[in-house]
Amino acid sequence: MTAARSRDDAALRGSVAKVAILLSFFVGHWVLSVFFQTFFLHRYSAHRMFSMSKAWERFFYLCTFVFQGASFLQPRAYAILHREHHAYSDTEKDPHSPHHARHFLDMMWKTALLYGALVRRQREPEARFEGGYPEWKLLDSLGESWLVRFAFAVGYTLVYMAFAPHWGWFLLLPAHYLMGPIHGAIVNWGGHMIGYRNFDLDDESRNTLPFDFLTLGELFQNNHHRFGQAVKFSVRAFEIDPTYMMIRLLAALRVVKIEREQIARWSPEPVPSAAE
Ligand SMILES: [Zn+2]
Ligand SMILES: [Zn+2]
Repeated sequence: MTAARSRDDAALRGSVAKVAILLSFFVGHWVLSVFFQTFFLHRYSAHRMFSMSKAWERFFYLCTFVFQGASFLQPRAYAILHREHHAYSDTEKDPHSPHHARHFLDMMWKTALLYGALVRRQREPEARFEGGYPEWKLLDSLGESWLVRFAFAVGYTLVYMAFAPHWGWFLLLPAHYLMGPIHGAIVNWGGHMIGYRNFDLDDESRNTLPFDFLTLGELFQNNHHRFGQAVKFSVRAFEIDPTYMMIRLLAALRVVKIEREQIARWSPEPVPSAAE
């Protein structure tokens, strides 16, 4: 009886440990993938909100490749697509407006086609959207290689095969395969559909979460569309942008340099227009 009970206890402890490993793996992949998207692809590559040495740029490029893995997004194509989004936010020419898509997956698909055409250089962007982003052709072509994507996908699958105590856990695998585009779609959909507005802009941008723990600051779309070059995406006392804190830390450590920081300001009164 006692031996059977201690075997049961050991089995239970083993299952709890496996679940802890899988949850850490999922959360770790989520957080690292979204961090390099907002820090490196968005705030650095697309907007150049801060600068860094060539060596650090290569280091963060490599981190983006490793942590986005199977769904690595190239800085050049990401930056051009994102600049088009700012210029045409929520109009017909916006590459990913939820207001010009039939549903969530339709928006994701349209974005993927436009992004893919940029990667394959089959689409000529407006000249003003080009330049100023980092390029590393070797990593870009490795990231686009189906063999490399497949190897990453096999790696994620092996982790689940080793630790999943139940087949239901395998349902999380598609999120690992498509992590980068899923984060982009959550921001593009949620940030232009759900939440509150601090600024009355011409587009439909919203702030979805006051503490953006899901996408580390990206969901402050309304603030970001108002102050496009501000490194800090939060503007009100209760809003928390975790990536800004990390960037401040990296600036204090002299890894990045914020030269001229645009300061986003929120006022409870309507801001009078220049004509008034
Ligand atoms: Zn937006
Ligand atoms: Zn932006």
